[in-house]
Amino acid sequence: MTTVTRALAVPSASAHFEPVTIERRALRDHDIRIDIAYAGICHSDIHQVREEWGPAVFPMVPGHEIAGVVSEVGSAVTRHKVGDRVGVGCMVDSCGQCEQCLAGHENFCQVKTVWTYNDTYPDGEITQGGYSQQIVVAEDFAVKIPDSMELDVAAPLLCAGVTVYNPLKRWGAGPGKKVAVVGMGGLGHMAVKIAAAMGSEVTVLSQTTSKEADGRAFGAVDYRATADGSVYSELRGTFDLVINTVSADVPLDRFLRMLRPFGAVVNVGLPTNPQQVRIGSLTSGDKVLTGSNIGGIPITQEMLDFCGEHGIAATVETISADEVDKAYDRVVNSDVRYRFVIDVSTIPAT
Ligand code: NAP
Ligand code: ZN
Repeated sequence: MTTVTRALAVPSASAHFEPVTIERRALRDHDIRIDIAYAGICHSDIHQVREEWGPAVFPMVPGHEIAGVVSEVGSAVTRHKVGDRVGVGCMVDSCGQCEQCLAGHENFCQVKTVWTYNDTYPDGEITQGGYSQQIVVAEDFAVKIPDSMELDVAAPLLCAGVTVYNPLKRWGAGPGKKVAVVGMGGLGHMAVKIAAAMGSEVTVLSQTTSKEADGRAFGAVDYRATADGSVYSELRGTFDLVINTVSADVPLDRFLRMLRPFGAVVNVGLPTNPQQVRIGSLTSGDKVLTGSNIGGIPITQEMLDFCGEHGIAATVETISADEVDKAYDRVVNSDVRYRFVIDVSTIPAT
């Protein structure tokens, strides 16, 4: 039997949020129902609601940083039980059979990764995300939240956490490595905390020094403002790894010049305009310019366990349902410390 649940939706591109009622599918054998407690606001939600990445599906219930409690399980579920604290990130399904799925890279499924919202399942069901009180997902797409972690500060790890943990691990962050994090918003503040917990020496490159005290508290040993531009020459040839989380146009050549030979600039921010780079910035020092897309289910669980062991999680501002439009404007203005999470119990009845 399908169920109905309260949600927050935008009826069309860039419209305001309004409370709605949506339907969740009847539980299949491998599905679980989650009573959502908190949903993080990722800048990707804003890009999609405002159609900055192209045409989107409306009405849209965004939200891919979901934390809650399992309230019902399908007849064949083995991974989770009623009462478990779980999270759902950017994906809710994939083929499970292809080379990428079998390697734990469900985000690169060769058949179809089904995104948590603004997408459709192969059978035509439209996905609706976490700004809602309930979601039904295949058990394999829910991960366990460590007991030591509160659900509000866990929610943002489901996207922001894994999106930075994955490239930090892959590109060798750790003792003896100098890591720069560009932009200290939702992704950036988690990159600082995780890179520091991995043992690397972290520098924040922010537009101003207004958040310096927080950056140092998160584990950075240096914090520089990019606004006056001199930092790029002062720190030339310094870093093994630069993680760029900025959602706007960025000076990639300048970041590449800040690398040591063989270092890497990894882009996780997704500006809408094409960016340019001089090939000479790559050849002088055999440097790598690359990108990274969230992470598969196994590394998402690994990241949560890592954060649990190291006592880190997101730094959040919890808001109610009627504050989401205002929060979007604040994120766009870089006025977020450091992730908004929606208490979905405040979504009113329609
Ligand atoms: P966010 O909270 O808005 O953080 C972005 C930060 O970038 C801001 O806090 C600001 O930091 C800096 N910034 C913003 N505008 C800037 C500008 N014009 N020039 C220089 N710096 C600027 O956003 P987020 O949720 O962390 O997401 C960041 C980006 O990553 C978005 O584009 C999002 O879509 C993308 N994303 C990608 C993935 C992936 O899988 N690759 C996953 C999730 C999100 P300071 O104030 O410190 O300068
Ligand atoms: Zn996200």
